[in-house]
Amino acid sequence: MKKVNVTRSSMPPYEEYIEMIKPLWDSHWLTNMGCYHQKLEKELEDFLKVDYVSLTVNGHMSLELAIQAMGFPSGSEVITTPFTFISTTHAIIRNGLEPVFCDIKMSDYTIDETKIEELITEKTVAIIPVHVYGQICNIEEIQRIAYKYNLKVIYDAAHAFGETYKDRSTAVFGDASVFSFHATKVFNTIEGGAVCTKNSELNEKIYNLKNFGIRSEELVISVGANAKMNEFAAAMGLLNLKYLQDELKKRRRIQDQYRNCLKDIDGVRILTERKDVVYNGAYFPVLFEKTNMNAGRDVVYEELKKEDIYARKYFYPLTADQACFKNKYKNVSLKCARYCAERVLVLPVYADLEEDVVSKICQIIKEIYERGG
Ligand SMILES: *Cc1c(COP(=O)(O)O)cnc(C)c1O
Repeated sequence: MKKVNVTRSSMPPYEEYIEMIKPLWDSHWLTNMGCYHQKLEKELEDFLKVDYVSLTVNGHMSLELAIQAMGFPSGSEVITTPFTFISTTHAIIRNGLEPVFCDIKMSDYTIDETKIEELITEKTVAIIPVHVYGQICNIEEIQRIAYKYNLKVIYDAAHAFGETYKDRSTAVFGDASVFSFHATKVFNTIEGGAVCTKNSELNEKIYNLKNFGIRSEELVISVGANAKMNEFAAAMGLLNLKYLQDELKKRRRIQDQYRNCLKDIDGVRILTERKDVVYNGAYFPVLFEKTNMNAGRDVVYEELKKEDIYARKYFYPLTADQACFKNKYKNVSLKCARYCAERVLVLPVYADLEEDVVSKICQIIKEIYERGG
């Protein structure tokens, strides 16, 4: 059997991409807000139903620039989740700010909004929650807290591209929502990302930050970096966007298959889908309640590996426990987050993952649980 990774990049038909990039050999215009860049921003604004989409070089820089654009005093505190990809935490620290980790909820692994208020101090300036695995945070409650304490909210929406909550796009929540279009994400531009906002002033700031603050040939109005998306990446995005609905449908079918196979195993927990969310099917996290040597998460991980199937322990360790900042920041109880980090395994999902492989993965899990449960 072929090697199966946790995900596999979606790619458009080869010929279509070649057709698409041919004009670049005529124009010699390879980057700097070219035709494809402009076209993709427009198409994404339509698709995501948000006023402004600013494309960037990757999801991480989108996060960094979104935070930087808010202009927080250095040393300010930002309340965030430790149950995420390291990028979320790094983006806060690289802006000279201090992450204050908040515990998560068992029900959907997103930040526990009931524990946010007790973490707020004079120095708190923002909340950066993550729609982890495409699970939508408690938008209303987080917004209520933000208004009450005059905090900004930036959503790391890297896992929630193309989803809706109560018929509203995940791009419109908070002061900004940030996506990653990395090769491994549900929608990719090879490398890429975007900051989405309803605020034109913020959008201007992002533009300046991603293009050296250059406004015309002889005018630089602010200090900025270079974080622009190039034309080859934008072309990939335009084609992947065309096939997105197809891809999402296939992913959801795989999710249904997992769900049916795994729902009745004692000690194996899968998330229940909410009626008010349309999911993108990007990730299939499973929580293995037991941690014993016979049937824990790590046993499943190793058994799958023996079959050349590579599930991932997202997100273990918690970002708060990583070597680079362990014990460096405020010591908050992260009981639930640690419980999950030790037990969750993300199973392979991608559009063309074969039904047989999904069956096999489920069979392996069942056997482990019958044997060692
Ligand atoms: C992928 C990801 C990022 C970073 O995006 P890149 O495009 O890889 O820079 C940030 N946050 C989360 C939750 C992610 O999954």
